[in-house]
Amino acid sequence: MDPETAGITGARRFVPEGRLSLGRLASAATNCRGCPLWRGASQVVFGEGSRTAELMLVGEQPGDREDRDGRPFVGPAGLELNRILDETGIERNRLYVTNAVKHFKFHREGKRRIHDKPTRNEVKACRPWLDRELELVQPRAVVALGATAGRELFGPGFRVTRHHGQFLENGPAEISVGTIHPSAIIRARDPDREAYREMLTGDLCAVIERLSS
Ligand code: SF4
Repeated sequence: MDPETAGITGARRFVPEGRLSLGRLASAATNCRGCPLWRGASQVVFGEGSRTAELMLVGEQPGDREDRDGRPFVGPAGLELNRILDETGIERNRLYVTNAVKHFKFHREGKRRIHDKPTRNEVKACRPWLDRELELVQPRAVVALGATAGRELFGPGFRVTRHHGQFLENGPAEISVGTIHPSAIIRARDPDREAYREMLTGDLCAVIERLSS
């Protein structure tokens, strides 16, 4: 059996059809067994936010803190994101925030759980959840945070360094943009950190400007 696809059947058969609330969708995701990631994680971390949000942010996957709290972007990267949203005047409770993959993937180093990048197949397996979130919220703008979400939404040719901040025509919304993940700011060395912060802030501001034009 190919280790890359072992245990991956995809989320489609777990995703309810028809009109339903985001709450019911999130609750259905607790039963998802579309790939093996649910086994190690504490719980599913579904998207959250307003059903009428004009802007949806899509990250990669929940981290350690998100896995424990069951909410997206509440760990260090979430705090960094909140700081930038504050600076740009974007109210987080008017957004919809989610991840391309809904369970935390990690390996252990002693007591610590270290983030592992989801494989292409795991991201694909989880895509039906994101598609339903997009269908129910119908945001005018979607911003992919980081390379994993960017490649999933804009295709394998997407590169954060080359394409960040550009209005991409092959995205899932009228305004579709990719940029860096806030965790890249945290991981960056001192001299680069401010430049990364400015990149994310600038890209989000461009989206807001386009939304209000
Ligand atoms: S990561 Fe996605 S596809 Fe895999 S079990 Fe979790 S919700 Fe299902």
